[in-house]
Amino acid sequence: MQYKRSSQLFHEASQVIPGGVNSPVRAFKAVGGTPIFIQKAKGAYLYDEDGNKLIDYINSWGPMILGHAFEPVVNAVIERTKLGTSFGTPTELETEIAKLAVSMVPNIDKIRFVNSGTEACMSAVRLARGFTKREKIIKFSGCYHGHSDSFLIAAGSGAITFGTPNSPGVTQGTAKDTLLAQYNNIENVKALFDANPNEIASIIIEPVAGNMGCVPPKKEFLQQLRELCTKNGTLLIFDEVMTGFRLAKGGAQELFGVNADIVTFGKVIGGGLPVGAFAARNEIMDYLAPNGPVYQAGTLSGNPLAMAAGLEMLKSLNNDAEIFKRLEEKTAYLEKGIREKLDKNNVVYTINRVGSMISVHFAKNAVEDLQSAAAGDNETFKKFFYGLLQEGVYIAPSAYETWFITDALTYEDLDFTINAVDKVSQNF
Ligand SMILES: *Cc1c(COP(=O)(O)O)cnc(C)c1O
Repeated sequence: MQYKRSSQLFHEASQVIPGGVNSPVRAFKAVGGTPIFIQKAKGAYLYDEDGNKLIDYINSWGPMILGHAFEPVVNAVIERTKLGTSFGTPTELETEIAKLAVSMVPNIDKIRFVNSGTEACMSAVRLARGFTKREKIIKFSGCYHGHSDSFLIAAGSGAITFGTPNSPGVTQGTAKDTLLAQYNNIENVKALFDANPNEIASIIIEPVAGNMGCVPPKKEFLQQLRELCTKNGTLLIFDEVMTGFRLAKGGAQELFGVNADIVTFGKVIGGGLPVGAFAARNEIMDYLAPNGPVYQAGTLSGNPLAMAAGLEMLKSLNNDAEIFKRLEEKTAYLEKGIREKLDKNNVVYTINRVGSMISVHFAKNAVEDLQSAAAGDNETFKKFFYGLLQEGVYIAPSAYETWFITDALTYEDLDFTINAVDKVSQNF
């Protein structure tokens, strides 16, 4: 495959956009080379500026769970656009999507819409701090909760890839209120509670980590966090920006049967438009302005185009009783196929999967936290990435990303992908 026009476009972009991209993971730094510019997409496929067709395993980093240019969403946005694109006033549409979201997700009474996952997590932590009147939070190494200051401490994904786990610009004052724990290590969390009695406002966690590759929680880990939080008057925040409306209708809370105090959303909830949200029980949400003292706002929050897209997406998921089962089956099929080929070709690997989140780590041992994820062989990953790309299969350009499976993938696409893995891994 040729990428002449993409290379040229990247060169031009780099003159006027820092690094040529508006979000760092797009820049291919972890694998070398230059990013591919996409012209259009439909279903499971991307079409790039050089005329290549690629099977897409990124799907806009999650939102396109039902495929690109999904018609109900596209039509809803077109129709809404004709009525005006933003008013800065309440609209009925906001109540409609809020009602639907609250009915799908367990354990929440109210939801507030924002414009990104970053905003959702940032606001959730402010709310937790205001509600508990405490300042410290616990986050886990390798978890990513967006790019607001409090979270850029051992953040996953792009932040690891670029070797700036502690970004310049984040002050010592902010950093000291973020306590770090190891994912899946409950003793570690207990020790932090012991060392900071009555000081911890919240624990924020990706209930299935997806930003150090896919890392599932150990059995009981989330429940143990729940118990520790309840005992210590600390709010448990599930960052479901990735897992929400993906692992189940009700996300990880439903899948694992563990209740969080605040839940954040992004990605799928916007159907491909810029949407985030955070939600909780009444007593917590009523602490938010204008009812309560914790301030949070947004000129374009609840934007009618974004809400129209999100509403159609949630309706489509809610009305399809088989969707999450189908996604699980497709991803399990892919996992099985990839395992067979990698075994056949004597590749050292670990595959982690929960529902339709999956990642291949070129690591020998179990990957259950940032340290074990980092033990993966990045040189092999690069060969894997470029090999697959050459075959027309587009996975995320970093070993620290999960694959996002879309229901638009057919079994033919999956077989094609499995055969591409076979071909590529013969040359490792
Ligand atoms: C993507 C992501 C975010 C950030 O969302 P943005 O919309 O990119 O700001 C936060 N948390 C998790 C778990 C994510 O995967």
